[in-house]
Amino acid sequence: MKVGILALQGAFIEHAKMVRRLGAEAVEVRLPAHLDGLDALILPGGESTTIGKLAVSYGLIEPLREFAKSKPTWGTCAGMIFLAKDIGIDRQPILGVMDITVNRNAFGRQIDSFEADLPIRGIEGGDVHAVFIRAPIATAVGDGVEVLGALADDRIIAARQGHLLATAFHPELTDDARVHELFLRLVRERP
Ligand code: GLN
Repeated sequence: MKVGILALQGAFIEHAKMVRRLGAEAVEVRLPAHLDGLDALILPGGESTTIGKLAVSYGLIEPLREFAKSKPTWGTCAGMIFLAKDIGIDRQPILGVMDITVNRNAFGRQIDSFEADLPIRGIEGGDVHAVFIRAPIATAVGDGVEVLGALADDRIIAARQGHLLATAFHPELTDDARVHELFLRLVRERP
């Protein structure tokens, strides 16, 4: 299995390590041609405005959009913002393929980053230790979107729409590979 990791900015190295640890091939994606032959794609966390600008410069927006429309794609944090249909900001380039409304920096500034142990639907063996770094939340999800995780106050931090997965936190920054496993399972089970 070949998993692309968008490698423009952010935590792409950590995702690649996790993917390799699970026995799949990890391919860094910087140009449209790098998407050829991939089974799935991870959009890492980082800074969504920077990722968006670089994706425009490298002619990646349309190829990434087409990829995510039909192949398993998972966005973490900034990647979740990049996947969303609506972020309430017109000028910021996003793919706009997942039917979720996302609020960037929902917890405030850097100092408001935090960690929490949360149950994630589809993951067994106890709570996932979730690292939130200037994280977004989903404020609304469309009919075809399944909520996989929420904070104690019900704010949505993980969701799935068919072959699309979004998490507001950073599973690649912990030792726990279960969210990556969940994604790879989704790739494998795809008809
Ligand atoms: N706050 C960042 C953004 O708006 C996301 C932070 C992250 O990916 N850890 O893009």
